[in-house]
Amino acid sequence: MTSAQVINPATEQVVTTIEAADQAATDAAIARAQRALTSWRQVAPGDRARLLRRFAEAVDADLERLAGLEVTNAGHTIGNARWEAGNVRDVLHYSAGMPERLLGNQIPVVGGVDITFHEPLGVVGVIVPWNFPMPIAAWGFGPALAAGNTVVLKPAELTPLTAIRLAELALDAGLPEHVFQVVTGKGSVVGQRFVTHPAVRKVVFTGSTEVGKQIMAGCAEQVKRVTLELGGKSANIVFADADLEKAAATAPYAVFDNAGQDCCARSRILVQRSVFDRFLELLEPAVQGVRVGDPADAATEMGPLISAAHRDRVAGFLEPSTKVAFTGSRPDGPGFWFAPTVVLPASPADRILTEEVFGPVVAVLPFDDEADAIRLANDTEYGLSGSLWTSDVGRALRVSRAVEAGNLSVNSHSSVRYWTPFGGFKQSGLGRELGPDAARAFTETKNVFIATD
Ligand code: NAP
Ligand code: MG
Repeated sequence: MTSAQVINPATEQVVTTIEAADQAATDAAIARAQRALTSWRQVAPGDRARLLRRFAEAVDADLERLAGLEVTNAGHTIGNARWEAGNVRDVLHYSAGMPERLLGNQIPVVGGVDITFHEPLGVVGVIVPWNFPMPIAAWGFGPALAAGNTVVLKPAELTPLTAIRLAELALDAGLPEHVFQVVTGKGSVVGQRFVTHPAVRKVVFTGSTEVGKQIMAGCAEQVKRVTLELGGKSANIVFADADLEKAAATAPYAVFDNAGQDCCARSRILVQRSVFDRFLELLEPAVQGVRVGDPADAATEMGPLISAAHRDRVAGFLEPSTKVAFTGSRPDGPGFWFAPTVVLPASPADRILTEEVFGPVVAVLPFDDEADAIRLANDTEYGLSGSLWTSDVGRALRVSRAVEAGNLSVNSHSSVRYWTPFGGFKQSGLGRELGPDAARAFTETKNVFIATD
C-alpha cells in the first residue's frame, strides 16, 4: 500500500491522504466480493429491495455531509453537490424497484415449457472518473447490486472521498459485508486489475476515450462484459426560428456547468447564419453573468477545475492564434481557476472543434440550413448528447432523428434522468446506463426448457 494526497482544487490545500491499494490488496477485495456473491444473489428480491431502500435513506440522511465532501474534494458548487448526492439517493430508490421486476419470458414451445431467467453476472468492477464522482458511481453500483451482483468500485485518485463515505453508508444501512467495496488507488493498478482478474465478470468504465479503448481491448481477452461512457463534443444547434433570448441565456450553463468538466457539455454552439451576430450579442452578457467563485457559496454557479495539470491541459487549447470572442470572470489567488471562454474557430479542423477540452471553453460557428447543421453536428467521432432550439416541431423531430448522439434535448439542455437511458453513439461509448433496462445490463439471459412429455 502506498498513499496519495487529496487536494481541494479551490484552495490548493491538502485535505487528507488516502491509501492506494496495490495489486494484492485489489485481488483480496475481489476475492471477498466473490465470496459474498453466493449469499447476496440468494437474498429474496423483496429483501434486496428493502436493503437498497435503506441505503437510499442513509444517503438522504447524510446528504449535507456528502455534498460538503464533494465541495472540498472536487470543487463542485454546493448546489450541484447537493443535486449529486440526491441523485445517488434517487438511483438507489429506483434500483430498489428492480429486484422484484427482473422478469423473464415464457416462450411457447412444443413438448414442454420454455422460460428465461436474468442471472447476475458475478463480481462487477466499476471505474469512476473525477468529474461526477457520486452519480457516475451510483449509476453502476445501484442497478448492479439490484440484479444480484457484488461490486468493487474504484474512484478516481483525485476524488475518492464521497465513494469511501458511500461504502460506509451501505454497511450502516445493513448491506452484507463485501457486497459493495470501494478500492482506492491508481487506474493503472486497481482499475487495470478489474480488467485482467478473471473473477470480475463486467467492467463499467467512465472516463477518457483513450483509456476506454484500452479497457475494451483488455476485456476482449476474457470476453468480459463492458460498458463504456466516454468523451463528448456535443452540439447545441440554434435555428433562426428559435427563442433566441432563451437559447442564449441558457447556453453558458450547458457547457460551463461543473466548469465544463462534463462529458455532455455542449461545447460546440452551431448558430444559423442569419441570427449569428444577434446570438453572440445575447450570449456575451450571459457568459459574463456566470458567477465563478467559492464553490461553498450557494450563489456560485461555477467552481475551479479539478487540478493544476488539468488547468494546464485546458489552457493548452488556447493558442496565440485562437480568436477569443469574449470571456467571463474568474477569481484571483489560489485555486485552479479558468474563466468561461467563447472562441470563434478558424476552420473545421481546429482542435477546439474536434477534441474534448473538458473545461469552460466553447466554440461558436455558423451554419446555413438544416442539412448543414446536421452535417456539422455529426462531424465528430463523438456522439454523446446535444441540444437543438427551434419553434418548428417537424424540424425538432427531423433533426433529433438525424443527429448521431445518445441523448438529445429540444428547447432545453437536460440530458440525464435516472429513469431514462443514458449513453453514447460512436466513440462516446458502448451500452447504456440508467432507465428501465438498467438492471438487465448486469445480467445474462438464461433459457431453460422443461420437457412435459
Ligand atoms: P481517465 O484517465 O480516463 O480516468 C478515468 C478513470 O479510469 C479513473 O478512475 C482512472 O484512475 C481510471 N484509469 C486510468 N487509467 C486506467 C487504466 N489503464 N486501466 C483502468 N483504469 C484506468 O481520465 P482522466 O485522466 O481523469 O481525464 C482525462 C480526460 O478524459 C479528460 O480531460 C476528459 O477529456 C476525459 N474524461 C471524460 C470523462 C467522461 O465523463 N466522459 C470523465 C473524465 C475524463 P486514476 O484516477 O487513478 O488515474
Ligand atoms: Mg488519465
